[in-house]
Amino acid sequence: MEPFNPSNFLVLVVDDLNINLQIVGAILDSEGYATTFATNGQQALSRMKNAQPDLVLLDLMMPEMDGFQVCENLRSNHDRSEIPIIFLTASQEQKHLLQAFDRGAVDYITKPFNPPELLARVKTHLELKHTRDELKKAVAELEKLATTDSLTGIANRRSLLLMGENEFLRARRYNRQLSVLMLDVDRFKQINDTYGHAVGDEALTAIAKAIVSTLRKGDCFGRFGGEEFLAFLPETGLDAAVEVANRIRTTIAELSLFSGKKQVQMTISIGVTECSENDIKVDTAIQRSDAGLYHAKHRGRNLVVAISPTDSKTSYL
Ligand SMILES: [Mg+2]
Repeated sequence: MEPFNPSNFLVLVVDDLNINLQIVGAILDSEGYATTFATNGQQALSRMKNAQPDLVLLDLMMPEMDGFQVCENLRSNHDRSEIPIIFLTASQEQKHLLQAFDRGAVDYITKPFNPPELLARVKTHLELKHTRDELKKAVAELEKLATTDSLTGIANRRSLLLMGENEFLRARRYNRQLSVLMLDVDRFKQINDTYGHAVGDEALTAIAKAIVSTLRKGDCFGRFGGEEFLAFLPETGLDAAVEVANRIRTTIAELSLFSGKKQVQMTISIGVTECSENDIKVDTAIQRSDAGLYHAKHRGRNLVVAISPTDSKTSYL
Protein backbone atom coordinates (compact mmCIF):
# COMPACT_ATOMS: atom_id res chain seq x y z
CA MET A 1 0.00 0.00 0.00
CA GLU A 2 1.20 3.51 -0.81
CA PRO A 3 2.27 5.65 2.18
CA PHE A 4 -0.07 8.45 3.21
CA ASN A 5 0.63 11.62 1.27
CA PRO A 6 -1.58 14.69 1.94
CA SER A 7 -1.11 16.06 -1.58
CA ASN A 8 -3.01 13.06 -2.96
CA PHE A 9 -6.17 14.20 -1.16
CA LEU A 10 -8.64 16.92 -1.95
CA VAL A 11 -10.58 18.44 0.95
CA LEU A 12 -13.77 20.40 0.36
CA VAL A 13 -14.36 23.11 2.99
CA VAL A 14 -17.88 24.50 3.27
CA ASP A 15 -18.62 27.57 5.36
CA ASP A 16 -20.78 30.66 4.86
CA LEU A 17 -18.04 32.86 6.36
CA ASN A 18 -15.09 33.61 4.11
CA ILE A 19 -12.78 34.16 7.04
CA ASN A 20 -13.41 30.58 8.22
CA LEU A 21 -12.63 29.26 4.75
CA GLN A 22 -9.37 31.20 4.76
CA ILE A 23 -8.35 29.91 8.20
CA VAL A 24 -9.16 26.27 7.49
CA GLY A 25 -7.67 26.56 4.00
CA ALA A 26 -4.39 27.86 5.43
CA ILE A 27 -4.20 25.07 8.03
CA LEU A 28 -4.79 22.36 5.41
CA ASP A 29 -2.41 24.05 3.00
CA SER A 30 0.38 24.03 5.59
CA GLU A 31 0.25 20.24 5.59
CA GLY A 32 0.10 19.93 1.80
CA TYR A 33 -3.54 19.00 1.25
CA ALA A 34 -5.30 20.12 -1.93
CA THR A 35 -8.34 22.23 -1.08
CA THR A 36 -11.54 23.45 -2.69
CA PHE A 37 -14.21 25.70 -1.19
CA ALA A 38 -17.94 26.41 -1.12
CA THR A 39 -19.82 29.15 0.72
CA ASN A 40 -23.29 27.57 0.71
CA GLY A 41 -25.04 24.23 0.51
CA GLN A 42 -25.92 24.36 -3.18
CA GLN A 43 -22.36 25.22 -4.11
CA ALA A 44 -21.13 22.40 -1.86
CA LEU A 45 -23.30 19.85 -3.67
CA SER A 46 -22.10 20.96 -7.08
CA ARG A 47 -18.44 20.98 -5.90
CA MET A 48 -18.99 17.43 -4.67
CA LYS A 49 -20.12 16.40 -8.10
CA ASN A 50 -17.46 18.19 -10.11
CA ALA A 51 -14.40 18.09 -7.89
CA GLN A 52 -14.99 14.71 -6.20
CA PRO A 53 -13.21 15.52 -2.94
CA ASP A 54 -11.95 12.84 -0.55
CA LEU A 55 -13.26 14.51 2.59
CA VAL A 56 -15.67 17.34 3.48
CA LEU A 57 -15.36 19.85 6.30
CA LEU A 58 -18.89 21.11 6.64
CA ASP A 59 -20.15 24.11 8.59
CA LEU A 60 -23.25 23.24 10.59
CA MET A 61 -24.96 26.62 10.63
CA MET A 62 -25.46 28.19 7.23
CA PRO A 63 -28.35 30.22 5.81
CA GLU A 64 -30.76 28.54 3.34
CA MET A 65 -29.39 25.00 3.34
CA ASP A 66 -27.73 24.06 6.64
CA GLY A 67 -25.04 21.44 7.20
CA PHE A 68 -27.61 18.78 8.14
CA GLN A 69 -29.39 19.14 4.83
CA VAL A 70 -26.14 19.08 2.85
CA CYS A 71 -25.01 16.00 4.77
CA GLU A 72 -28.29 14.19 4.21
CA ASN A 73 -28.24 15.03 0.53
CA LEU A 74 -24.72 13.67 0.16
CA ARG A 75 -25.46 10.52 2.11
CA SER A 76 -28.56 9.70 0.08
CA ASN A 77 -26.53 9.85 -3.09
CA HIS A 78 -24.87 6.46 -3.34
CA ASP A 79 -21.81 7.62 -5.27
CA ARG A 80 -20.80 10.00 -2.56
CA SER A 81 -22.11 8.10 0.41
CA GLU A 82 -18.71 6.94 1.63
CA ILE A 83 -16.95 10.27 1.68
CA PRO A 84 -16.13 11.22 5.28
CA ILE A 85 -17.94 14.35 6.44
CA ILE A 86 -16.60 16.27 9.44
CA PHE A 87 -18.78 19.00 10.90
CA LEU A 88 -17.41 22.41 11.81
CA THR A 89 -19.35 23.66 14.82
CA ALA A 90 -19.28 26.64 17.16
CA SER A 91 -19.25 25.51 20.79
CA GLN A 92 -22.84 26.65 21.43
CA GLU A 93 -23.95 24.27 18.68
CA GLN A 94 -22.70 21.17 20.50
CA LYS A 95 -26.20 20.09 21.44
CA HIS A 96 -26.78 19.46 17.73
CA LEU A 97 -23.93 17.00 17.48
CA LEU A 98 -25.93 13.84 18.06
CA GLN A 99 -28.11 14.89 15.19
CA ALA A 100 -25.02 15.39 13.04
CA PHE A 101 -23.79 11.84 13.68
CA ASP A 102 -27.28 10.59 13.02
CA ARG A 103 -27.16 12.10 9.57
CA GLY A 104 -23.88 10.45 8.74
CA ALA A 105 -21.08 12.70 10.00
CA VAL A 106 -17.95 10.82 11.08
CA ASP A 107 -16.55 13.51 13.40
CA TYR A 108 -16.69 17.17 14.38
CA ILE A 109 -14.29 20.04 14.99
CA THR A 110 -15.22 23.03 17.13
CA LYS A 111 -14.53 26.66 16.32
CA PRO A 112 -12.26 28.44 17.03
CA PHE A 113 -10.01 26.00 15.20
CA ASN A 114 -7.08 24.36 16.89
CA PRO A 115 -4.77 23.56 13.93
CA PRO A 116 -3.10 20.37 15.24
CA GLU A 117 -6.49 18.95 16.26
CA LEU A 118 -8.05 19.79 12.90
CA LEU A 119 -5.14 18.20 11.03
CA ALA A 120 -5.18 15.11 13.24
CA ARG A 121 -8.88 14.49 12.65
CA VAL A 122 -8.63 15.09 8.92
CA LYS A 123 -5.68 12.72 8.65
CA THR A 124 -7.36 9.97 10.68
CA HIS A 125 -10.45 9.93 8.49
CA LEU A 126 -8.53 10.19 5.24
CA GLU A 127 -6.32 7.30 6.30
CA LEU A 128 -9.38 5.25 7.15
CA LYS A 129 -10.94 6.04 3.82
CA HIS A 130 -7.69 5.30 2.03
CA THR A 131 -7.38 1.92 3.73
CA ARG A 132 -11.01 1.11 3.00
CA ASP A 133 -10.59 2.02 -0.68
CA GLU A 134 -7.42 -0.07 -1.01
CA LEU A 135 -9.12 -2.99 0.69
CA LYS A 136 -12.09 -2.71 -1.64
CA LYS A 137 -9.77 -2.69 -4.64
CA ALA A 138 -7.96 -5.76 -3.33
CA VAL A 139 -11.23 -7.61 -2.71
CA ALA A 140 -12.52 -6.74 -6.19
CA GLU A 141 -9.25 -7.93 -7.70
CA LEU A 142 -9.38 -11.20 -5.75
CA GLU A 143 -13.00 -11.72 -6.66
CA LYS A 144 -12.16 -11.23 -10.30
CA LEU A 145 -9.27 -13.70 -10.06
CA ALA A 146 -11.46 -16.23 -8.30
CA THR A 147 -14.31 -16.05 -10.82
CA THR A 148 -12.54 -15.46 -14.13
CA ASP A 149 -10.88 -17.87 -16.50
CA SER A 150 -7.41 -16.38 -16.93
CA LEU A 151 -6.99 -17.34 -20.60
CA THR A 152 -10.29 -16.17 -22.06
CA GLY A 153 -11.44 -13.61 -19.48
CA ILE A 154 -14.90 -15.22 -19.24
CA ALA A 155 -16.37 -16.86 -16.14
CA ASN A 156 -14.51 -19.91 -14.85
CA ARG A 157 -16.17 -23.21 -14.06
CA ARG A 158 -16.79 -22.44 -10.41
CA SER A 159 -18.54 -19.10 -10.95
CA LEU A 160 -20.32 -20.40 -14.03
CA LEU A 161 -21.89 -23.26 -12.07
CA LEU A 162 -22.86 -20.85 -9.32
CA MET A 163 -24.61 -18.59 -11.84
CA GLY A 164 -26.28 -21.63 -13.40
CA GLU A 165 -27.50 -22.80 -10.01
CA ASN A 166 -28.98 -19.35 -9.31
CA GLU A 167 -30.69 -19.19 -12.69
CA PHE A 168 -32.03 -22.69 -12.17
CA LEU A 169 -33.52 -21.84 -8.76
CA ARG A 170 -34.98 -18.61 -10.11
CA ALA A 171 -36.55 -20.38 -13.08
CA ARG A 172 -38.09 -22.98 -10.78
CA ARG A 173 -39.41 -20.47 -8.29
CA TYR A 174 -41.07 -18.27 -10.88
CA ASN A 175 -41.88 -21.05 -13.31
CA ARG A 176 -39.77 -19.51 -16.08
CA GLN A 177 -37.98 -21.11 -19.00
CA LEU A 178 -34.26 -21.80 -18.85
CA SER A 179 -32.13 -23.49 -21.47
CA VAL A 180 -28.65 -24.96 -21.25
CA LEU A 181 -26.02 -25.17 -23.99
CA MET A 182 -22.94 -27.38 -23.74
CA LEU A 183 -20.41 -26.37 -26.37
CA ASP A 184 -17.21 -28.15 -27.36
CA VAL A 185 -14.62 -27.11 -29.92
CA ASP A 186 -14.29 -29.80 -32.59
CA ARG A 187 -10.96 -31.59 -32.93
CA PHE A 188 -9.24 -29.13 -30.66
CA LYS A 189 -6.36 -31.50 -30.01
CA GLN A 190 -5.65 -31.43 -33.74
CA ILE A 191 -5.44 -27.62 -33.69
CA ASN A 192 -2.96 -27.82 -30.81
CA ASP A 193 -0.93 -30.58 -32.47
CA THR A 194 -0.85 -28.90 -35.89
CA TYR A 195 -0.27 -25.27 -34.98
CA GLY A 196 1.03 -25.41 -31.40
CA HIS A 197 -0.50 -24.49 -28.06
CA ALA A 198 -0.18 -20.75 -28.55
CA VAL A 199 -2.50 -20.95 -31.55
CA GLY A 200 -4.75 -23.31 -29.59
CA ASP A 201 -5.01 -20.68 -26.87
CA GLU A 202 -5.74 -18.01 -29.47
CA ALA A 203 -8.47 -20.19 -30.93
CA LEU A 204 -10.13 -20.66 -27.54
CA THR A 205 -9.98 -16.93 -26.84
CA ALA A 206 -11.43 -16.03 -30.25
CA ILE A 207 -14.19 -18.60 -29.86
CA ALA A 208 -15.10 -17.40 -26.36
CA LYS A 209 -15.25 -13.81 -27.60
CA ALA A 210 -17.43 -14.76 -30.57
CA ILE A 211 -19.86 -16.67 -28.35
CA VAL A 212 -20.09 -13.75 -25.90
CA SER A 213 -21.00 -11.42 -28.75
CA THR A 214 -23.72 -13.81 -29.93
CA LEU A 215 -25.35 -14.18 -26.52
CA ARG A 216 -27.65 -11.67 -24.83
CA LYS A 217 -26.69 -9.64 -21.81
CA GLY A 218 -28.65 -11.72 -19.31
CA ASP A 219 -27.22 -15.02 -20.50
CA CYS A 220 -24.60 -16.76 -18.34
CA PHE A 221 -21.59 -18.13 -20.11
CA GLY A 222 -18.21 -19.49 -19.14
CA ARG A 223 -15.46 -22.02 -19.64
CA PHE A 224 -16.49 -25.40 -18.33
CA GLY A 225 -13.01 -26.85 -18.77
CA GLY A 226 -10.45 -27.47 -21.53
CA GLU A 227 -12.15 -26.67 -24.84
CA GLU A 228 -15.62 -26.98 -23.36
CA PHE A 229 -17.98 -24.07 -22.70
CA LEU A 230 -21.37 -23.87 -21.05
CA ALA A 231 -24.17 -21.33 -21.35
CA PHE A 232 -27.43 -20.78 -19.48
CA LEU A 233 -30.13 -18.87 -21.35
CA PRO A 234 -32.83 -17.50 -19.04
CA GLU A 235 -36.34 -16.89 -20.43
CA THR A 236 -35.53 -19.17 -23.36
CA GLY A 237 -37.33 -22.34 -24.44
CA LEU A 238 -35.80 -25.22 -26.38
CA ASP A 239 -36.63 -24.00 -29.90
CA ALA A 240 -35.26 -20.53 -29.30
CA ALA A 241 -32.18 -22.04 -27.64
CA VAL A 242 -31.55 -24.21 -30.70
CA GLU A 243 -31.67 -21.07 -32.84
CA VAL A 244 -29.13 -19.39 -30.60
CA ALA A 245 -26.93 -22.50 -30.72
CA ASN A 246 -27.04 -22.58 -34.51
CA ARG A 247 -26.17 -18.93 -34.67
CA ILE A 248 -23.14 -19.63 -32.48
CA ARG A 249 -22.21 -22.65 -34.59
CA THR A 250 -22.22 -20.70 -37.87
CA THR A 251 -20.42 -17.73 -36.30
CA ILE A 252 -17.59 -20.01 -35.14
CA ALA A 253 -17.36 -21.75 -38.53
CA GLU A 254 -16.93 -18.34 -40.16
CA LEU A 255 -14.24 -17.14 -37.76
CA SER A 256 -10.89 -16.59 -39.36
CA LEU A 257 -7.72 -17.25 -37.43
CA PHE A 258 -4.36 -17.50 -39.12
CA SER A 259 -1.20 -19.32 -38.16
CA GLY A 260 1.36 -17.79 -40.47
CA LYS A 261 -0.37 -18.00 -43.85
CA LYS A 262 -2.46 -21.01 -42.95
CA GLN A 263 -6.05 -20.48 -41.94
CA VAL A 264 -7.05 -22.41 -38.83
CA GLN A 265 -10.44 -24.02 -39.33
CA MET A 266 -12.61 -23.99 -36.25
CA THR A 267 -16.00 -25.55 -35.69
CA ILE A 268 -18.02 -26.26 -32.60
CA SER A 269 -20.59 -28.88 -31.58
CA ILE A 270 -23.41 -28.00 -29.23
CA GLY A 271 -25.81 -29.96 -27.06
CA VAL A 272 -28.98 -28.11 -26.08
CA THR A 273 -31.70 -28.78 -23.57
CA GLU A 274 -34.19 -26.88 -21.48
CA CYS A 275 -34.81 -27.29 -17.78
CA SER A 276 -38.00 -28.98 -16.69
CA GLU A 277 -39.87 -29.13 -13.43
CA ASN A 278 -38.69 -32.72 -13.13
CA ASP A 279 -35.07 -31.66 -12.96
CA ILE A 280 -34.10 -31.89 -9.32
CA LYS A 281 -30.95 -29.87 -9.77
CA VAL A 282 -29.19 -27.94 -12.46
CA ASP A 283 -26.72 -30.82 -12.93
CA THR A 284 -29.50 -32.95 -14.37
CA ALA A 285 -30.04 -30.43 -17.17
CA ILE A 286 -26.30 -29.99 -17.66
CA GLN A 287 -25.91 -33.76 -18.08
CA ARG A 288 -28.71 -33.74 -20.64
CA SER A 289 -27.03 -30.99 -22.65
CA ASP A 290 -23.82 -33.01 -22.45
CA ALA A 291 -25.68 -36.02 -23.87
CA GLY A 292 -26.80 -33.78 -26.76
CA LEU A 293 -23.20 -32.78 -27.30
CA TYR A 294 -22.16 -36.42 -27.35
CA HIS A 295 -24.68 -37.12 -30.13
CA ALA A 296 -23.55 -34.04 -32.07
CA LYS A 297 -19.96 -35.32 -31.99
CA HIS A 298 -20.98 -38.79 -33.11
CA ARG A 299 -23.13 -37.52 -35.93
CA GLY A 300 -20.18 -35.74 -37.51
CA ARG A 301 -19.51 -32.51 -35.52
CA ASN A 302 -20.23 -28.87 -36.41
CA LEU A 303 -23.75 -29.75 -35.30
CA VAL A 304 -26.43 -28.79 -32.80
CA VAL A 305 -28.38 -31.60 -31.12
CA ALA A 306 -31.30 -30.81 -28.83
CA ILE A 307 -32.64 -33.13 -26.20
CA SER A 308 -35.97 -32.21 -24.68
CA PRO A 309 -36.55 -33.15 -21.04
CA THR A 310 -39.37 -35.52 -22.03
CA ASP A 311 -37.15 -37.42 -24.51
CA SER A 312 -34.68 -38.19 -21.90
CA LYS A 313 -36.62 -38.76 -18.74
CA THR A 314 -35.37 -42.27 -18.37
CA SER A 315 -32.06 -42.20 -20.20
CA TYR A 316 -30.46 -39.08 -18.79
CA LEU A 317 -31.94 -38.35 -15.40
MG1 LIG B 1 -21.84 29.26 9.64
